[in-house]
Amino acid sequence: MNLHVDQDRCCGAGQCVLAAPELFDQREEDGLVVLLAAEPPAELLAVAEDAVAACPGRAIRLDRG
Ligand code: SF4
Repeated sequence: MNLHVDQDRCCGAGQCVLAAPELFDQREEDGLVVLLAAEPPAELLAVAEDAVAACPGRAIRLDRG
């Protein structure tokens, strides 16, 4: 699985960090998303999907391949 984030779409809401703190963080200066793991292990699929669903900016893309 691969994760991608689009910082241009991110509004810094932080829902991804709440849903999946293993996978996302926020920049100190402006709150924009920081991707911690671009190729997370399969056992984190559920939390990755939660983060995608929770993101109000649709800034997270998940490729399951
Ligand atoms: S939930 Fe979406 S909009 Fe909010 S910080 Fe995470 S990536 Fe950005």
